[in-house]
Amino acid sequence: MRAWMLLMDDPGLFTFFAGLLGLLVGSFINVVAHRLPIMLHRRWRAEAQGMLELPIKKRRRFNLAWPGSHCPRCNHGLRVWENVPILSYLILRGRCSSCSRAISPRYPLVELLSAVLSALVAWRVGPGGQALTLLLVTWALLSLSLIDLENKLLPDVIVLPVLWLGLLVNTFDVHVTPQSALWGAAAGYLSLWTLFWLYKLATGKDGMGYGDFKLLALLGAWGGVHILPFTLLMASVGGALIGLYLIRRGHARPSHEMPFGPCLATAGWIMLLWNDEIHTSYLHMIGI
Ligand SMILES: [Zn+2]
Repeated sequence: MRAWMLLMDDPGLFTFFAGLLGLLVGSFINVVAHRLPIMLHRRWRAEAQGMLELPIKKRRRFNLAWPGSHCPRCNHGLRVWENVPILSYLILRGRCSSCSRAISPRYPLVELLSAVLSALVAWRVGPGGQALTLLLVTWALLSLSLIDLENKLLPDVIVLPVLWLGLLVNTFDVHVTPQSALWGAAAGYLSLWTLFWLYKLATGKDGMGYGDFKLLALLGAWGGVHILPFTLLMASVGGALIGLYLIRRGHARPSHEMPFGPCLATAGWIMLLWNDEIHTSYLHMIGI
């Protein structure tokens, strides 16, 4: 109890521990981002086979905890010391200790990113319930961005619980008033839903996915209705600039569909932390 009080009294210590916690959670985010899409695809395939009355093949157990972390080439199971975020990667010099297969630098990078973002939240918001709940949102947004980048998928199993949690948390006025949270969730969903249908009616094509509507609803539920316009603006401008850059560098074609989730998540996260500053400087800019 005393240690907890000490942590809650000292912003520096709180930031440090949030970073450390972010590092550990980052390790789990790697697992979720890699395994959850595989689990979902397996389930959908099994459901489709069931519906078509095709025989369903029995597969080996596969979930977030099973099988334990192992090398995909030699199946060497990772020992505890080989599973420490970042440190193990550095000690092993980025190679499997058994067969020397290169380990993707993506794993330590995600761990580092999770640590930095978590420390930023703690530093910006300060010790307390606001920071603790925002850490949860940060980890969810990071997982969603990674999954969307690779699989063009924003799983409901992450988005919806975090959306509901945001509405519940804000019934205690933690981040915004309950009214603002409710309006944020509904307006977030409906604004993109409307854009989607206008675009579809005009062009016959899908401009984005339903996952994007739910993600914006999630951001509105946590940050309130007032963060939505800037979140959308930043996400669209940022997404367009990244798209142009990728096309110019030859990494993407104009017809290429870029996932919008990571842009929304990043813009929303920035607005959750710096809404006041961004609004103030905007009002300054337009001379109010
Ligand atoms: Zn190996």
